[in-house]
Amino acid sequence: MKQLVLAGGGHAHVQVLAALAAQPLPGAEVTLVTPQPVLWYSGMVPGVIAGRYAPEEAQIDLAALARRAGVRLVLDAVAALRPETRRLRLAGGAELAYDALSLDTGGELSRDLIDGARDQALFVRPLHSFVQLWPRLQSLAARQPGLQVVVIGGGAAGFELAAAMRRALVAQARVTLVAGNAGLLPSFPRGVRHQALAVLKSRSVTVIADDAVEIEPGQLRLSGGSRLPCDAPVVALGVQPPAWLSDSGLRLAPDGFIATGATLQSVSHPEVFAVGDVSRRIDAPHPRSGVYAVRAGPVLTANLRAWAAGQPLTVYRPQRLALALLSCGDGTALASWGPLSARGAWVGRWKDRIDRAFVEAYREGARVGSLSLR
Ligand SMILES: Cc1cc2nc3c(=O)[nH]c(=O)nc-3n(C[C@H](O)[C@H](O)[C@H](O)COP(=O)(O)OP(=O)(O)OC[C@H]3O[C@@H](n4cnc5c(N)ncnc54)[C@H](O)[C@@H]3O)c2cc1C
Repeated sequence: MKQLVLAGGGHAHVQVLAALAAQPLPGAEVTLVTPQPVLWYSGMVPGVIAGRYAPEEAQIDLAALARRAGVRLVLDAVAALRPETRRLRLAGGAELAYDALSLDTGGELSRDLIDGARDQALFVRPLHSFVQLWPRLQSLAARQPGLQVVVIGGGAAGFELAAAMRRALVAQARVTLVAGNAGLLPSFPRGVRHQALAVLKSRSVTVIADDAVEIEPGQLRLSGGSRLPCDAPVVALGVQPPAWLSDSGLRLAPDGFIATGATLQSVSHPEVFAVGDVSRRIDAPHPRSGVYAVRAGPVLTANLRAWAAGQPLTVYRPQRLALALLSCGDGTALASWGPLSARGAWVGRWKDRIDRAFVEAYREGARVGSLSLR
């Protein structure tokens, strides 16, 4: 039997598991290594914070999926990778050998990007810790009128979380978004940025276009030198490559993520597949988002089957444009696709349908086939 190890219960691997539940992989024993028994579906997390979804509605049960797929589940995290011996070392100390490895572990949010953040800030990743700690911030705001909450990060997650927190916190709490010196949603078209600013302004969320450089007790220092009152800093910056990649021997892209090619294989080690935020397609670079992790799922599944059967692999061409649906915290959402954008309650309902359908597709008894909606 060949040993296939799936590392990380990410957005593509849930599809691999669902496909294996429908049709096993002959000739291979499959193991999933992931630290949590559930995957938090990030698209619904701002809705959980806003109180629009119960936490269970935003979770995919990885343990149940693995059971249905006949996949051995190891609740642990990859701590080191030695591709020359085809072995993984796990954080708990165990070692795992593989013939083929598929990595969908996402990126990491470094604790050290902003001085003082490690000890004082709430970090949005890992999502399970963030969602677990969020009620503490909520009750602090209820006990301490005028609490100054500062979300740091002007990307889609920072925007959605600032809007969601404004919705969820008592009226006296103040929410500020420190968006970075490129401003709010820097990678989005001007019209979307304008609308997003208007949304936050209408909710009395102050947006500051400057970089946060240091968190001090009760305040946040910005790169321009000014200081901002800050009782509860929330770091929602983009992800970095996991620390264990740097000395793994896998070829990395200039930004430190795993360099992959058209068949989703590592360009240096073809028995290693990598998808989602942990990877970088060097032949066809695209932004890092859940959409691309989801879209890679079916091709990854097909290629893992082809690898096991010794057949040729399929080439995956990532889409050029991806639809972004940004929730505004109140049931409305902002849609952005290339130069087009729209906002309203109907966009919110559209996003809600897509998100719920994705999560529902992995529940016990769901029909396999409606998997790739995002
Ligand atoms: C608040 C928020 C909202 C977002 N909303 C959207 C959205 O609406 N649309 C969108 O396209 N993108 C969105 N994103 C971005 C999106 O979350 C990521 O791009 C997406 O999660 C990447 O998917 P992935 O499969 O690569 O990794 P992940 O979804 O991060 O999954 C990684 C998995 O690997 C596990 N893991 C982590 N480390 C290890 C390890 N060392 N060993 C083994 N397993 C490990 C994790 O527990 C997890 O199960 C949002 C992000 C945030 C923070």
